[in-house]
Amino acid sequence: MSVLVVGSTALDSIKTPKAENPRLLGGSASHAAVAASFFAPVKLVGVVGDDFPRPYVQLYERHGIDLAGLQRVTGQTFHWAGEYEVNMNNRRTLTTELGVFADFNPVLPDAYRRTPYVLLANIAPSLQSHVLDQMQRPRFVIADTMDLWLNIALDDLLELLKRVDALVLNDSEARQLTGEDNVVVAARRIHQLGPRYVIVKKGEHGSLLSGPEGRFICPAYPLEKVVDPTGAGDSFVGGLIGCLATARGSVEKALRRGMVHGSVVASFCCEGFGLKRTTKVTRDEIEDRVARLQAMARI
Ligand code: AMP
Repeated sequence: MSVLVVGSTALDSIKTPKAENPRLLGGSASHAAVAASFFAPVKLVGVVGDDFPRPYVQLYERHGIDLAGLQRVTGQTFHWAGEYEVNMNNRRTLTTELGVFADFNPVLPDAYRRTPYVLLANIAPSLQSHVLDQMQRPRFVIADTMDLWLNIALDDLLELLKRVDALVLNDSEARQLTGEDNVVVAARRIHQLGPRYVIVKKGEHGSLLSGPEGRFICPAYPLEKVVDPTGAGDSFVGGLIGCLATARGSVEKALRRGMVHGSVVASFCCEGFGLKRTTKVTRDEIEDRVARLQAMARI
């Protein structure tokens, strides 16, 4: 079964204490779509300007990503620049240039409207809702978000939450959304806002699933060296929904399996700048790391 991914399609300029890489392929939808493509066919919804490099389009194509929903318009592609501190956990946004994103109106091609699995990757919640309005009875919808939308578009986000099956957010966002310090309690409060499933990401400390069947904790794959964590969260949720789209049986079991696979794809993402490492990985390498992670987590 296929997955629809909407989100940002960006050029990312990333600075770490060791290196600087301008205008890499990035954006929440790019990371999530590539991650999902290891498991399921992916349909992308986004917008790029006429400065978007052809090799980046070819990279999507190599991953079999359907680009019928990628608008190409005159103007500049969304550009985001960020800088990491020495410990690589703290990041500062240097620039957000919306470019063609400012007027983005996602209109889904007809062939996209019946896609069963929908990932509303990080983008303004009003746009996420607009995509959802055009879908015909999707089987499972996951939304991702970021602190920016909690600050400037909270009402839109709260409207969206009533319509999604799962929300994925990081621990500080869960605290901000609920005003609750304890993430276990925060997850419970988020259920009251709509989503049956809540997944709280805790960076290198893994993630927590809360749902009607109870809780599940998923470790992060322990890495000795992190080159660039940009897009790790998007890779996590992309791998998760891709895996979910191929699963049969209980949703909760599929989510658990999806989280473990998402965690592994995110670990590959962190080993290179932008999408450099993720786009070189194979399904066998992913499964090998999944097996290692399971062995490490066995009690
Ligand atoms: P993550 O590291 O998972 O938080 O995701 C980083 C990605 O989010 C980068 O590739 C950025 O291009 C993208 N991004 C940053 N700011 C925004 C924004 N305001 N809206 C949508 N995507 C963004």
